[in-house]
Amino acid sequence: MKVVVTGGSGFLGSHLCEALLRRGDTVWCLDNHCTGRAANVAHLVDHPRFRLVRADVSRACTVPGPVDAVAHLASPASPPDYGRLPLETLTAGSLGTQNALLLAERNEARFLLTSTSEVYGDPLVHPQPEEYWGNVSPVGPRSVYDEAKRYAEALTAAHRRTLAVDSGIVRIFNTYGPRMRPHDGRVVSTFVRQALADEPLTIHGDGSQTRSFCYVDDLVRGLIAMLDSHCAGPVNLGNPAERTVRELAGLVLAATGSSSPMEHLPLPVDDPTRRCPDISRAHELLGWTPVVTLEEGLRRTVGWFSGAPVPGRLRQPLEI
Ligand code: NAD
Repeated sequence: MKVVVTGGSGFLGSHLCEALLRRGDTVWCLDNHCTGRAANVAHLVDHPRFRLVRADVSRACTVPGPVDAVAHLASPASPPDYGRLPLETLTAGSLGTQNALLLAERNEARFLLTSTSEVYGDPLVHPQPEEYWGNVSPVGPRSVYDEAKRYAEALTAAHRRTLAVDSGIVRIFNTYGPRMRPHDGRVVSTFVRQALADEPLTIHGDGSQTRSFCYVDDLVRGLIAMLDSHCAGPVNLGNPAERTVRELAGLVLAATGSSSPMEHLPLPVDDPTRRCPDISRAHELLGWTPVVTLEEGLRRTVGWFSGAPVPGRLRQPLEI
């Protein structure tokens, strides 16, 4: 297949590009590098089936020749990023999604939207099934991201209904792994960075809020299963093993061997108190289930952050 990956230089996108190349696809990575890094795909640029194009998909999303699939990942995704880039986040979700959908429509290609568990906001239903409509502030500090993704979902569903685009929506829950930016403001990268520097681990609130952490390799398997299907979704992708933030801090200390203390900060506005995916639909429709435990995933992530060789593929030349 020839697959266009928007946001392919980002954390998830770079892993997706790698996995698609590994199985024989041709990959066009479109990215404006507003939150991603060219370094994430530097090892791919000489590959004969890989093209890296610097492009803002909110302005245009085109590539020469026919396309079989479009995976739309382009969007700032962490709270500090969308706090810094609020208007760009809204346009990536709206115009960016529209441009990516039009590329898929013109080519009669499969379209994959990477939506988010943030569409559930601070959920009143637990765990969150896809039928739940969410509890989102339309004007709060997180709304630029949450509402952009909700609009992107509506746009994707409408293109499927009215223009017969073979689209699918996945809602991704917290995912972590190598290539997260140390200062991206996400809880795993923040704790790992702090623990490795022997700095205090900064816990917002009392740390009793929960998250469900999915290792990147599991998530990418789910993305590809959805890309290869004709399933409309939305489908939750995440690891349902729910942990408190305080528990996560303890696991990071164990994985790094650090004796950093924990420091408590105020809870950010609209911070969700509980997050856990119901993944029955992903299991039934895609046969997908995550397999990497948090302990193992953290071991690999810490290995990458500390520059040590990571078991598996990341520090080795790609066999593609
Ligand atoms: P990331 O910031 O590492 O990657 C996003 C990429 O999109 C970056 O490379 C950025 O430069 C690019 N981008 C942003 N706006 C663009 C534009 N207008 N044109 C071209 N490129 C643009 O974030 P990520 O964690 O890899 O997230 C990828 C996607 O997955 C996002 O859509 C995000 O909403 C979704 N998602 C991620 C998670 C997670 O836990 N990582 C959870 C839920 C949803």
